[in-house]
Amino acid sequence: MKTTSRTVSVDVDPPYSVHVGAGLIGDVARRVETWPRAFVLTDANVDRLFGDIARSWPNSFVNVVAAGEHSKSFATLEQVLDAMVAAELDRSSGLVAFGGGVVGDLGGLAAGLFHRGIHYIQVPTTLLAMVDSSVGGKTAVNLAGGKNLAGIFHQPVEVFADTRFLASLSDDEYRSGLGEVVKTAVLDGPLFDVLVARSDEIMRRDAHALVDIVEVCVRTKATIVARDPFEKGDRKLLNLGHTFAHAIEHAAGFGRVPHGVAVATGVVLAAEAGRAAGLAVGASLIESLRRLLTTLDVPADLATLAQRYDVELGPDEIVLAMARDKKSRHGAPRFIIPLAPGTVLRDVELPEAALSSALTASAWI
Ligand code: NAD
Repeated sequence: MKTTSRTVSVDVDPPYSVHVGAGLIGDVARRVETWPRAFVLTDANVDRLFGDIARSWPNSFVNVVAAGEHSKSFATLEQVLDAMVAAELDRSSGLVAFGGGVVGDLGGLAAGLFHRGIHYIQVPTTLLAMVDSSVGGKTAVNLAGGKNLAGIFHQPVEVFADTRFLASLSDDEYRSGLGEVVKTAVLDGPLFDVLVARSDEIMRRDAHALVDIVEVCVRTKATIVARDPFEKGDRKLLNLGHTFAHAIEHAAGFGRVPHGVAVATGVVLAAEAGRAAGLAVGASLIESLRRLLTTLDVPADLATLAQRYDVELGPDEIVLAMARDKKSRHGAPRFIIPLAPGTVLRDVELPEAALSSALTASAWI
């Protein structure tokens, strides 16, 4: 039964629609049937849970990769491209990226490379993919030297986000998506109060409430992407919390802490470090951020994060990871500092004392 559905336009060239709904998966067939042949890329978990849906799409050929970040590799990309040739795809064929951000990034890149670019749609099945990775056309695989180092911009022709898929996500994956939702709320402003008011429905994973929330996140991202499709300026706003998050993920050992969870703690740390540096971070922001994250069962500080994921996360380890990051970027990291929901500063260089003070307070809370 389909009851709620919204469409957000992403105004890049050419523009495309993101449909967000509870039970809209039936609409995917409408787009797939316009292609003489469709290549559905998915992972083993999504295939086990929802493979029957993919196999019901007209003219479709389903290709399954292993679940997990290690599938974002050149080796898997080559296998996927070879499978596209074996499935006798041509320039008029389309690809469906059916899964989380891993399948979305890998599938988008394969679609961008095959015959110098064929059409593809995103059908995200994780919260993180719905609110973030399926929109904006950034595609990539990882290299031995780092994440997302080989990729292209290739926008999808349509996105279908069905919030009913979120019922089967693990708690950790759901929390990871919520971390990105809270980050988006800090950028957006009004969404912050919506999350506070609707936290019970969010925790129950109410598919209709999630349509409202995913829609605002997609709208926020679409507005920023339309202003800056190739990440030369404004799009960097979406990296709020990410400098801390990368250092946390690095210090904990990659894969131990879900990315979006690290981002959420990173947003709080950015606010705390901004305040320690004397910036006009609103007194209530840090308190309300902490309260919201705690209600959503997402760690708001390093101490809780370390305990939840059984990792060592002292301030020294994070500073060390940031120093490594600084070396590889040939310069001091620039931060995005939230001042209040809806108001952030970009490109801020923070004094080391402010960083240390925020990290120490968060680790020994
Ligand atoms: P993921 O794709 O690995 O999915 C997480 C896990 O959930 C996997 O094990 C998957 O099999 C499983 N899963 C997916 N849907 C499910 C469902 N409905 N029910 C049960 N299990 C399900 O990870 P992710 O968090 O979705 O995405 C992370 C990736 O996204 C990273 O590689 C990151 O670099 C990338 N990313 C890209 C962008 C972008 O703009 N392109 C933005 C943010 C993140």
